[in-house]
Amino acid sequence: MSEIKTIGVLTSGGDAPGMNAAIRAVVRTGIYHGMTVKGINKGFNGLINGDIFKMDLRSVSDIIHKGGTILKTVRCQDFKTEEGIRKGISMAEVFGIDAIVVIGGDGSLRGARDLARFGMKVIGIPGTIDNDIGCSEYTIGYDTCLNTVQDALDKIRDTAYSHERCSVLEVMGRHAGYIALNVGIASGAEVIILPERPFDFNKDIIKPIIEGRNRGKKHYIVIIAEGAGGAVSVAEKIEEITRIESRATILGHIQRGGSPTVRDRVMASIMGAKATELLSDGIYNKVVALKENRLVSIDIEEALETTKEMDNDMIELSRILSL
Ligand code: ADP
Repeated sequence: MSEIKTIGVLTSGGDAPGMNAAIRAVVRTGIYHGMTVKGINKGFNGLINGDIFKMDLRSVSDIIHKGGTILKTVRCQDFKTEEGIRKGISMAEVFGIDAIVVIGGDGSLRGARDLARFGMKVIGIPGTIDNDIGCSEYTIGYDTCLNTVQDALDKIRDTAYSHERCSVLEVMGRHAGYIALNVGIASGAEVIILPERPFDFNKDIIKPIIEGRNRGKKHYIVIIAEGAGGAVSVAEKIEEITRIESRATILGHIQRGGSPTVRDRVMASIMGAKATELLSDGIYNKVVALKENRLVSIDIEEALETTKEMDNDMIELSRILSL
């Protein structure tokens, strides 16, 4: 029998669509496995402050289709200190919590790892629109974000077409370009600027636009990942050099909201279920991850050391397809 009888669940860092589906899965499968589940509000902050409550089957009713997170999320600076982590662990003890499921991005998983280092049992679930968790091919919220950006870009394309303009779209992703690259391919962008690849303004932005114009193009889409620069200055410079009217759009937080797609709901459900299954089996200090399209669990220390590379073939394909 596992000694893990009561588990806590929290969401942390940037919110992502599908986090609710993950919470729901943790609660329902946790209870199914005979455990008590406690919700921790506002991420690590709520853990430190004891903002913790018991969750039952009905406490996660009607949330699977909702964006955001019912448990709320904050960024907690205290948790980057040993004192903060120790406070969190002692509060978990006060509430009788034996293990914590942390749903969040890279920072949140580092917080979970620190909890583990100080003796708390944890499971991490990658949840971020950025898809920038090295150990996992997929993070909860990524697919919804891609679809939201794609929808916005289709609308922007209509007006770029009508006015024969160049539209420069800045998308989220922090230091990663997964959103930019994939939406770039899906929308046939002329130029995709990624933080992972250094770029030369004339060679990588101006040249493909001019060449496109010479081949008969009349409107242009440039996608820039936020980690690679700002859309406003890029649009200004394109207009200055090419005389093609250019407009910048910064999509901002619209990318983080909205009803999760089927893929996000299903992935979140599977990952949440995997987390409680591990805990029920007495296995902890793991990150649930998608690897070679299969759900696996990876030691949390190893998971945070793992990096993943941008696919060069995808970058090359994006260039060929936009000719
Ligand atoms: P995300 O989880 O989306 O990457 P953040 O990077 O803001 O978002 O991290 C969320 C929270 O995780 C932070 O507010 C902090 O409490 C905790 N955290 C972030 N980085 C670390 C770290 N290096 N070590 C421990 N905890 C961290």
